[in-house]
Amino acid sequence: MEAEGIVQEQAEQQEQPCPRCGRPVADGAVYCPHCCGAPRLRGDTRHIMRAGLRGGAAGLFLGSLCAVILLWFWGDVRGTRGIAFGCVVTFLTTGLLLGLTRGRGWR
Ligand SMILES: [Zn+2]
Repeated sequence: MEAEGIVQEQAEQQEQPCPRCGRPVADGAVYCPHCCGAPRLRGDTRHIMRAGLRGGAAGLFLGSLCAVILLWFWGDVRGTRGIAFGCVVTFLTTGLLLGLTRGRGWR
């Protein structure tokens, strides 16, 4: 009897009310099985995407700035252009990842 109670308690802890219809949904479910349309319960996907885009934009800006400075100092040589391009790509991906990480609430 006692074990049953614990199992039930655990099951209840893993369920959260759907923000749309209020019925219990498994924690972390992508959509509600009752109304089939509620947004993700844990971590708003749109929020994460927006944070990632913002991070990517910031990275693109910094990368472009880095590339412009590189080209300005060393001139428009083939090798410099490659480094500048790599700089932009690196900053862009780093910014995107950082943004996504922040949007998810990781530290
Ligand atoms: Zn629902």
